[in-house]
Amino acid sequence: MSLTIELLPDPAANDLRLTQLAADRSTPLERLNVLYGSGLQRLAAQRMLTEAAGGGLAAVYGFTPVDLAEAAARLGRPPERLAWPPGADLVALRRMLDSLDLDRFDAHAPGLAPALLRTLTDLREAALSPDDLPDGDIRTVFGAWRDIVATVEDRSSRYEDAISQTTPDAAYREALGGAPLIVSGIYDLTRVQRLLLARISEAVEVHMLLVAPDDDPRSPPLRTLDALRRETAARVIRSPIPTSSRAPERYFSSGDPTAEADEMASRILGLGRDGIAFHRVAILHQQGAPGDERHAASLARADIPVWRVGGRQIAATPPGHASLVLCRLLLAPTSVERSALIDWLSHRSLRDRPLDITRRPGVWDRIAVEAGLSHGLHTMRNSLEDHFEVSRDEGGRDLLQIISDLGERSRALEAAESWGHAADILIDALDDYIENRPDSVVLLDAVRTTINQLAGNDALGAAWTTQDGLTSIGRALESQVVRDPRRLVGGVNIGAATGPARGIRYDAIFAAGVAERVLPAAGRQDPLLGDDQRAAINARIPAALALQRERGDSDRHAWALMRRAAVRQFTASWSRRSSAVGGPARASALILEAASDSLPAEMRYSEQALSDAGRIERIASPGVADAEHRAAPADAVDSSAFNLALLQLPYADTRALLPELWPQADASLHARARRSARDFTEFDGRLDPELIEDWRPLEQSWTPAALETFVTCPYRFYLHYVIGARGEPAPQRVDRRARWMFDRLVHRILSSWVREYEHFKTDRTWFEYADSASYLNAVARRILDSDAGAAALGPPAGAAAARNEVMRILERARRREAANARDGWRPLAVHVSYDGAQVRVQGGRALRFRGMIDRIDIHVGGRHRALSLFTEPDPPDVRGFVNGSSFLSVAHLCALNQRGVAIRDAEVEHRAIDADGAVSSQVLAGESLATRGGSAAPSDGERLRRTLAVVADQLETANFIPNPGAPPRNRPNCARCTFESTCTPDLGRRYQFKARHDPERVRDLESLRRLRI
Ligand code: SF4
Repeated sequence: MSLTIELLPDPAANDLRLTQLAADRSTPLERLNVLYGSGLQRLAAQRMLTEAAGGGLAAVYGFTPVDLAEAAARLGRPPERLAWPPGADLVALRRMLDSLDLDRFDAHAPGLAPALLRTLTDLREAALSPDDLPDGDIRTVFGAWRDIVATVEDRSSRYEDAISQTTPDAAYREALGGAPLIVSGIYDLTRVQRLLLARISEAVEVHMLLVAPDDDPRSPPLRTLDALRRETAARVIRSPIPTSSRAPERYFSSGDPTAEADEMASRILGLGRDGIAFHRVAILHQQGAPGDERHAASLARADIPVWRVGGRQIAATPPGHASLVLCRLLLAPTSVERSALIDWLSHRSLRDRPLDITRRPGVWDRIAVEAGLSHGLHTMRNSLEDHFEVSRDEGGRDLLQIISDLGERSRALEAAESWGHAADILIDALDDYIENRPDSVVLLDAVRTTINQLAGNDALGAAWTTQDGLTSIGRALESQVVRDPRRLVGGVNIGAATGPARGIRYDAIFAAGVAERVLPAAGRQDPLLGDDQRAAINARIPAALALQRERGDSDRHAWALMRRAAVRQFTASWSRRSSAVGGPARASALILEAASDSLPAEMRYSEQALSDAGRIERIASPGVADAEHRAAPADAVDSSAFNLALLQLPYADTRALLPELWPQADASLHARARRSARDFTEFDGRLDPELIEDWRPLEQSWTPAALETFVTCPYRFYLHYVIGARGEPAPQRVDRRARWMFDRLVHRILSSWVREYEHFKTDRTWFEYADSASYLNAVARRILDSDAGAAALGPPAGAAAARNEVMRILERARRREAANARDGWRPLAVHVSYDGAQVRVQGGRALRFRGMIDRIDIHVGGRHRALSLFTEPDPPDVRGFVNGSSFLSVAHLCALNQRGVAIRDAEVEHRAIDADGAVSSQVLAGESLATRGGSAAPSDGERLRRTLAVVADQLETANFIPNPGAPPRNRPNCARCTFESTCTPDLGRRYQFKARHDPERVRDLESLRRLRI
């Protein structure tokens, strides 16, 4: 039999050759075996072959190397092996280290055992024996470890059994049905895999398709070729298939990784509109699980389906993390710290009412501090019991009940007789404490399965100890992944550039995060077996171990493959900041090199020059799109003026001439006369409702500010909200910063910060996020550095001070958020608009509100809070509704109610942080409006309804009398009114005069004014 290696220039040639080999069979039912690099490649190639065969494909068998090794070993005479339950390898290694006499290694050093496991796996995959290693600790450990794994089944043991002499050639022939084997999509092989290939080629004919995009001898395919040539009698041929033309390439950079992911999502939507199916698009990167999460979140925001090639690490998901912490609390009770316990009790994956107790982490934190709890589950329980004897605090009783329950479970685990018994206790605890939400069913099932598998240790004869249980569960949950339930066709493929998707052809490939030191990566050496030691072993056994310094070659090869695997479009990008909290990042040399193609020498490799030449698109950070503000009206009602030369003539009788030129002049003169009348008239805003077209004020929604304006001066309300006039704004002084821009800037930073929690929520609780200053500082820096941020800081001379002021306000805001998070609050939605939120007033009527809530928070107990943030020292009073000075809190309560929140579960907070960082807060509980008072002391709710009834009456009767305030002569209401020029200077005197002759007209308004005083 033989091994033929056919060198191909790119993945397209590989696919074409594979199709030809499948078509060359003498009959469509002749068996064909294909060995792929990954399960995903197998799936993609099967689909490609099926399409090439016109929809029907038979007798094509696909394997991955480990599948084939297992199949062949099973048909030989493999030794008896027991499967290791998850995490058992680490426990076994720790026990083994305890029994060894080591020279340099400290067996109990944290991190030694997991690092050793990686090194030992490398040595096994290099098919080395302890004799191949130099004298020392590694050799001692490897020798002892081989004895332990001799009877255990794991991934490496499948290769070891397959290449052992106990597996005859006939077993390979039987596993492959006697048919030849084609190898496709494999670029590098470990030594044990090469030995497997050599064994297979002795039993059947093997034809290996090897894609080598360039002639660099350091590239993984050419290294593999070199090793196979040395170890086997391989025949090497070069494929006549030419290189296919490359897809158009694009490059861009963005401000931060989230913006980069969002830009990709928007481009993928565009591809979808052009008819490219989402599963024909891939995002490949080398940024690990956080990169996967970030891209998946961006695509989810754009409603684009996603399939994560590498799955999700269980411990990095919220239910997995909460479960892992619970196991740690129960299995290591003496090392539990108070803060860790309280943090876990505020975890979002916990049940809202574990053990039928409503969670109140904020109250419990206070009680824990008062009771002097510090660490140790059982010690804390005793301290809390003593404290409760004295305080009899209800919250303390609940916390005591939970800590007692955890303590009892922990003691039961200590006394457990077997791994199976311990697994049952842990599963019970999970069921009682972790919430099984619909979106986390799969994840929780995976956690339960993993813990159930611990029972397998009993079959190995291992005794149960809590320490071993802790090690096993930690390793299992941190190393296992859960797969998305949808398969390849499920959406945009996201995964590692050097992972299972390597070499698969997609219509569009996005290479993300192609930044310096990320791709190609700056590799770190194995701390236990450095590159020099590995090179010394390789000098005796060629290509046995991979060197970490060669990692860059793998990344460069992955880059070349990505570029050639894109059928219609290839896009590469990086973000100019390394992360949301990181520093500046530069483009990878790979991008600069690719984008410099065919440019003159002086422009090559310069990011700026490539950007100027249009080769690299620089996506700017978004700025403030609009400059409008509620207090900055644009047009004046009286901005027009008549200046007719005719009227200037000395001989013209202007008074007679004017009505001829301008017929409405008569009405103007009439109006002027009526303003001096004793009673209020339509020229004072006392209108006949019929005059206003379609006037149904109770059927439309009003902003809280509109109704507050009405209560202040109904005429101002009429001008602004009924006829839509806008007053002349006070000119902005160039040497002062605009307060409203500053206010908006702070709001924008805080809302961006809350929104960006989306990217961290899989591995951070809201408390952890809010408690760390770095996230908010990163968002603040980003926005302050942008054009819009700089503009809001005012003149350059004061910008540094303004920036400090912003940072001071933000820091206080963040601390307040962290304190609230500790109390069990977390954000639910940001910038929530509402319309039609109604509140009932007398006569079966209702007033309707519309507007926007800065943020809605939710408490673990189910309460909802509408939060409004202010950067001024005097925010609107939450109880301002009793006199009509502020309807904001009422409108927000109605909005919460409109969203289905019961009034007793709703509350409103006005939170103000002034320039010095002083925080003040006012809270209005919804249930306070449901109480009843007496005639002498009406309740808040009754006063609200009375005030709103007056407003509703006045609106319905179209009573828009100008109200200059009290005393009328001083006109306090007019001081900051943008319509002052429409009201004559004698308005105060006239109001006093008319109010005396027509008191009925102003009685209700005056009653509101008195309430305000
Ligand atoms: S100037 Fe005074 S009276 Fe006239 S609309 Fe403004 S607040 Fe009302």
